[in-house]
Amino acid sequence: MNHVAITRCENYEYSIVRDAVREVTAASSFPDCKGRKILVKPNILSDSRPEKGITTHPAVVRALVEECLERGAEKVFIGDSPGLHSPHFSPVSSGIAAVCEQTGAQWADFTQGSVSRTLPDGTRIQIASVLDQVDFVISAAKFKTHQLMFLTGCVKNMFGLMPGLNKSSTHLRFPDKNDFARFLQQLFEVSKTAYALMDACIVMEGAGPANGTLRYAGLLIGSDNAYLVDKAEAIMMGYDPASIPVLKGRKELSMNESYPLLDAHDLVIKDFRRIDVKKADNLFSALIMPFFTRIFGKKKTEKGNAPSFSEKACVHCLRCVKICPAHALSHAGGKIIIDTGKCIRCYCCAEMCPADAISVKES
Ligand code: SF4
Ligand code: SF4
Repeated sequence: MNHVAITRCENYEYSIVRDAVREVTAASSFPDCKGRKILVKPNILSDSRPEKGITTHPAVVRALVEECLERGAEKVFIGDSPGLHSPHFSPVSSGIAAVCEQTGAQWADFTQGSVSRTLPDGTRIQIASVLDQVDFVISAAKFKTHQLMFLTGCVKNMFGLMPGLNKSSTHLRFPDKNDFARFLQQLFEVSKTAYALMDACIVMEGAGPANGTLRYAGLLIGSDNAYLVDKAEAIMMGYDPASIPVLKGRKELSMNESYPLLDAHDLVIKDFRRIDVKKADNLFSALIMPFFTRIFGKKKTEKGNAPSFSEKACVHCLRCVKICPAHALSHAGGKIIIDTGKCIRCYCCAEMCPADAISVKES
């Protein structure tokens, strides 16, 4: 039986978070840490301040690292790769660098070495070499919506194991959300993830993962099955889990998981502003797209709303231009110009913008 432990985490005061982590890990098959080397993988995205609610809160990461050490871990690494990942990047703004100092965990700089992996379907990828040094990985994600994937959870969090711009080229390779989700499922298979913890104290609704609005949920979620944490997140957001791309085709959809503490079905967040999952979307994917694929040999990409750019807020850092995998952005006449015909709606630009100058109209 797979347990999904959900408990109250009233705020980010460290002692409260530490107690919540103890309670959740005790109730949900936390892996044996004794003598193990562990990578904790938070969602750092573009290394923004904790109060922006974009990244996994440092108090949650710290409490998780302390849990591993108390249970006898030999060594704990913390690592993630933002979209634009310069060598020697240190996550100071998000507070994760301070967690390394507080706990003695070692920051793993994913730019300092990658190794090649072959996914179950034969796709070759580059992945952080620290994976070869650890016994297992813990995904420490943030409860947030996601414009492309509807939610960002513990499975998608593993995308950050691919260093730097490897991620944006993967978006270009899999512009369709369902293809991208299948890629994420394959990547997860080689990620060595043994446990998943989700920071659901302050959560993001609307235009996530970087431009949504924050609201209070006051919860922490953990399980040894990352898909079940994402399923619980979907339920609490008010989605049908079967409509979430990364859960499609997974056995967890039909599982009767147990909730030893609080039950996700009793914690649905009222009026949560989720990304609209169009009914036609499922119909298109299930029936019409395979037809197009058979006839024309390639898929017609589903397109959402293209991002828009605020001239007033832009600080001209050009991060968006650099990260855009489709080369849809240019900088001319003191503003960012988008070629909406080229844009694949991956929203990497919005995730990277340090000035909240990029917005995506909610569906
Ligand atoms: S403009 Fe933004 S959303 Fe469009 S392809 Fe480029 S990075 Fe992705
Ligand atoms: S990332 Fe944001 S601030 Fe930087 S150039 Fe693009 S729109 Fe402007």
